[in-house]
Amino acid sequence: MKNPKYVYLFEEADGSNKKLLGGKGAGLAEMTRMGLPVPPGFIVTTEACLQYSENKKKLPKGLMEEVQTNLKTVEEKTGKNFGSPQNPLFFSVRSGAATSMPGMMDTILNLGLNDKTLEGLIQITSDGRFAYDAYRRFIQLFGKIALGVEEKEFEQILNKVKEKVGTREDTDLEVDHLSDICEQYLGLIKKRTGIPFPQDPMIQLKLAIEAVFKSWMGKRAVAYRKEFNITPEMANGTAVNVCTMVFGNMGFDSATGVAFTRDPGTGENVFYGEYLVNAQGEDVVAGIRTPKPIQEMKKEMPKIYRELERVRKTLEGHFHEVQDFEFTVEKGILYILQTRNGKLNAQAIVQTSKEMVAEKLIKKDQAVMRLKPQELEQLLHKRIDPNFKGKPIAVGLPASPGAASGKAIFDADEAERVGKLGDKVILVREETKPEDIHGFFASQGILTSRGGKTSHAAVVARGMGKPCVSGCEELRIDPKGREANIKNVHIKEGDFITVDGSRGEVYLGEVPTVDPEIRKDLLTLLNWADEIRTLGVRANADTPEAANKARQLGAEGIGLCRTERMFNAADRLPIVREMILAGSKEKRAEAITKLLPMQRNDFKGIFRAMAGLPVTIRLLDPPLHEFLPSAEELASKLRNLKEVEEAFSTMENISDAMKYLDPSFRESLGLLDHVVTDIIEIKEKRLDKKLIRKQQETLRKVKEMMEINPMLGHRGVRLGITYPEIYKMQIQAILEAAAELMKEGVHIQPEIMVPQVCTAQELKWVYQLVKKVQREVEKPYKIQIPFKFGTMIEVVRACMRAGRMAEVADFFSFGTNDLTQATFSFSREDAENKFLPLYNQRKILQDNPFEVLDVKGVGRLMMIAIEWGRKTKPDLKIGICGEHGGHPESVEFSHSIGLSYVSCSVPRLPIARLAAAHAKLKEGEKRPSEKYDPDVFGIPTV
Ligand code: PEP
Ligand code: MG
Repeated sequence: MKNPKYVYLFEEADGSNKKLLGGKGAGLAEMTRMGLPVPPGFIVTTEACLQYSENKKKLPKGLMEEVQTNLKTVEEKTGKNFGSPQNPLFFSVRSGAATSMPGMMDTILNLGLNDKTLEGLIQITSDGRFAYDAYRRFIQLFGKIALGVEEKEFEQILNKVKEKVGTREDTDLEVDHLSDICEQYLGLIKKRTGIPFPQDPMIQLKLAIEAVFKSWMGKRAVAYRKEFNITPEMANGTAVNVCTMVFGNMGFDSATGVAFTRDPGTGENVFYGEYLVNAQGEDVVAGIRTPKPIQEMKKEMPKIYRELERVRKTLEGHFHEVQDFEFTVEKGILYILQTRNGKLNAQAIVQTSKEMVAEKLIKKDQAVMRLKPQELEQLLHKRIDPNFKGKPIAVGLPASPGAASGKAIFDADEAERVGKLGDKVILVREETKPEDIHGFFASQGILTSRGGKTSHAAVVARGMGKPCVSGCEELRIDPKGREANIKNVHIKEGDFITVDGSRGEVYLGEVPTVDPEIRKDLLTLLNWADEIRTLGVRANADTPEAANKARQLGAEGIGLCRTERMFNAADRLPIVREMILAGSKEKRAEAITKLLPMQRNDFKGIFRAMAGLPVTIRLLDPPLHEFLPSAEELASKLRNLKEVEEAFSTMENISDAMKYLDPSFRESLGLLDHVVTDIIEIKEKRLDKKLIRKQQETLRKVKEMMEINPMLGHRGVRLGITYPEIYKMQIQAILEAAAELMKEGVHIQPEIMVPQVCTAQELKWVYQLVKKVQREVEKPYKIQIPFKFGTMIEVVRACMRAGRMAEVADFFSFGTNDLTQATFSFSREDAENKFLPLYNQRKILQDNPFEVLDVKGVGRLMMIAIEWGRKTKPDLKIGICGEHGGHPESVEFSHSIGLSYVSCSVPRLPIARLAAAHAKLKEGEKRPSEKYDPDVFGIPTV
């Protein structure tokens, strides 16, 4: 069988095939075809990487021959020769997977340098310092990446020489120092690997390709893919991009930089970037020197700036997306080395989406798809309370927006350790490197003293949506001493600091923050999402205030109003307790009569706030003892009361006793006499005894109501059937509120919902009650009240009997919190802090099923219920109101199984609206259920 083609020249590769070429390779291919100034080169495909991994880390047969052939073409194009001492060709060798993983894999620059080509480079450039500097960088990178020598050993050599010279800057090193460093580096490599540094450029190239392939399975890259859910369908293997080296450090007509076609922090349509004159790319990215803003180039290199502006326009026009590109200027000539879709924060995505639609660069559908529902969460990020008057202790660059407080921690391992203990952490570093990634995961925010807005720290923090302040140069960090100083402020490890990544400010201590408001641009995008989506979005809201807020955030009704929240209000609780503890029907009726007008008012407020939209009110659900004090609390109160009673008995005689002991006390006994008189009165009226008896009675009742497993006990509809007065009162309050508002001309759509139903008989029982109350209410109001009657589906049996349930119900609403509990037999109260984290860690379960809907189990039950329910009633309205209703993946699933709406907590409404639009636009793609479990749709019809 013929080998597949593993190597493509930039100009022959198909730039749309990111999976084969990796994102970087595809970008280079596209830019070459577009005629942009890309240095010649070739791409070794991801397929070769996969072959390498499968083939026990051996390069596929024929690969190096293909490399040779392509290399010849590059030699012809550049007029240079690989390994030639007279006219040497050098390469950069970079990794690049289909999905961008910034800094996660390895890059080697200046490949092809050896003792001989070094001489050639000195000849051509007449710059010995430059050539030796390039050589020492190459040996260091190659030694670390391809030969596995520890970076810190190179750093030690470099630092020792710098110390000897008496400088902290690389730029102060002269040619002799650099040549000395090269020699020491070569010695180090021989010592550590046992063999001399490879001088043959072809061997260097082979080893470099292998090193890039290995880095795909390296610890960092694997952890990154895991964290960001990068599946093999998204990116499988890395490509290797072998590109002719161009040098940005060939003097003051050379430079290197990175740029975004628009501001990635704000989304503003301005050219945004940073550059360094006489520097190599790694200097910008690693944050070793703080670069200048691209606008300064207008003056410093006006011709190049104009060319860059042109590149900016061309790139956006071609890719229809904000681009993040790297460039190098070598002796006055511009080269573009890479382009990729810019990683923008959520605010920037929103603004650019709106503007790019206006500029006709993209369509509304694309604009909506650009913002991922998870990213939208970034916009729900905190900022520093505007009323806070404190002054920052330092100001750096606003590298990633949002504000966060935490303990200042000076290295990634410690950040991880402290984070795992549950403490908030701000990772404070001079600069960050890819190996610090675990520290990022554990931190609330990042602060660095060096590096620009495109430094590693900035890019990674932005990608994660965590606040970051970079380049805070006033900050003097001593990582060994685990402390930092800003002017005269001393910060030791564990001290609380706050970073404001939107302004670049750093504060001492924990600064108050406020939640963000939704901006106009986002509203536009959400309105477009509403035009697209077919899935309804409602809110879980229990008060008129929450209902108002929900409306502002685009709710199309209330999907769940939990009436128990109203029972818990301070002015209600005593009456609710009276109702529960009532010894007789009459007494209970008395308490209920007091509650009725209160509930009626609650419902009127909510109906009014939601005028014109449906409001689903759930009848009382939790077990009644949740409204009572606990048995322990009562027992302890009772003990206290008894002690007081005993004390009273002795106090009755105390003033006589004191007079008897010493008549001179008579004068001072006035106050005591009063107290004793009160006590005697209390005792005569037997108030103490009455109180004790009342407490005893309450305790007896509480004990009587106690259940071993209350969540599976006397709650929901079971409660409604055993204490019909309560449900009757609630139904009456709903219908009277509706009637009164109808009289006022307010358009209402009440929906009465019954919780915890497991058999259609229960539902029928409540329905009879509703009909009876309806007749009673309609008569005096002389009105016909329109309402719907439905059930929660949160019990497994309810799913199995959905066909019968639908005979009585106008609608179903999946209570996936309880349904998940019931399906797994995991307690929703305990599982998440007991065994679930370990289950996730061991991959026994992929996700927390109380957060991400379990499509394979709970999802299947839902599908059965939908199918059978709609068989009985084809137009049955079905929603979901468990916490999953606001989770993007669950929203997508809800859309795919034909739910009518999702109902979620108020702050998650924008996420649900966007996720619902995404679900519609992704309809043609694999449905999430199929993604997880291909046979999920193969459920037999019954
Ligand atoms: C549910 O069980 O999913 C639900 C919405 O009800 P609650 O969380 O109030 O039990
Ligand atoms: Mg429930």
